Amino acid sequence: MLINNSPVSQFQFNQRTIYVKRDDLLDPNFSGNKARKLAYFLTQPSADIDTLISYGGNQSNLMYSLSCLAKLKNWQFIYYTNQISSQAQLNAAGNLAASLANGMQIIPTKTKLNLLAQDLATNLASNQLLIQQGGAQSEAEFGIQQLAAEIRQWAAQQNFAQLAIFLPSGTGTSAFYLQKQLREFTVYTTNCVGSPEYLEQQFQQLDPHAKIYPTILPNLNYRFATPYQELLTAYQQLSDSSQIEFDLVYDPIGWKILSNNLTQISAPLLYIHCGGLIGNSSMLRRYQYAFPELFAH
Ligand SMILES: *Cc1c(COP(=O)(O)O)cnc(C)c1O
Repeated sequence: MLINNSPVSQFQFNQRTIYVKRDDLLDPNFSGNKARKLAYFLTQPSADIDTLISYGGNQSNLMYSLSCLAKLKNWQFIYYTNQISSQAQLNAAGNLAASLANGMQIIPTKTKLNLLAQDLATNLASNQLLIQQGGAQSEAEFGIQQLAAEIRQWAAQQNFAQLAIFLPSGTGTSAFYLQKQLREFTVYTTNCVGSPEYLEQQFQQLDPHAKIYPTILPNLNYRFATPYQELLTAYQQLSDSSQIEFDLVYDPIGWKILSNNLTQISAPLLYIHCGGLIGNSSMLRRYQYAFPELFAH
């Protein structure tokens, strides 16, 4: 199972070289930053655990990787979500279908997920492992530290004294720990979920005393997992110039916001490909539904 030492590709965009850290080429079950966030649980022994519990959206990339982790470890996997009907389960695509096939038990709940999380944590039994929504917890730093070490070594080989790193954020966990581990470089990110203020709060929850936080390039226009024609255009441009398949949920927002700010970033630029390609089929369905005319042949 390959969960570290991913290669770096490059492509030209507007006369600029963009480097891409290919974490999408890590193990498909733990692709992208999910491999990094879960590296701790994948490599450390956990003899007493037989049940994994988590919660969040029903098309979450992390949910899918957790279903693979549970399968690998022979654990039960229980997942709480606010957004599931039995109809949705029957028509499941993307991450939901793949996670159900891995044996995930999905439990619909009307309780707000942050309240549910507190309740789960308080009542956790010693055979249960609770992973927070999106993997936003301190164990994520273990794998992100390895990612940081790979980037540092690569930058040294390239003779880059400066480096700008970009990755789109959900919980902000990856961006936060990456900046913490790579103080010599600037980590840029954008809020794909919620507002820029929400992302700042997420950083502070991980460590209220951190000396350095990632630089947020604010996204004020695009709502999470919502189709926008201009994002599709940006995504197609990105695919054409890079010849790399990117994720359809985070990367179109990330790339659009990054391209709007590109001229202000003078250091060599490394884009972290965070994987997530298994979710593309369900997001593509949403795009086809929203803009049928763009897909008519
Ligand atoms: C999970 C994910 C992210 C966001 O990672 P966070 O650590 O939650 O900010 C970005 N891109 C892709 C493709 C992801 O799957």
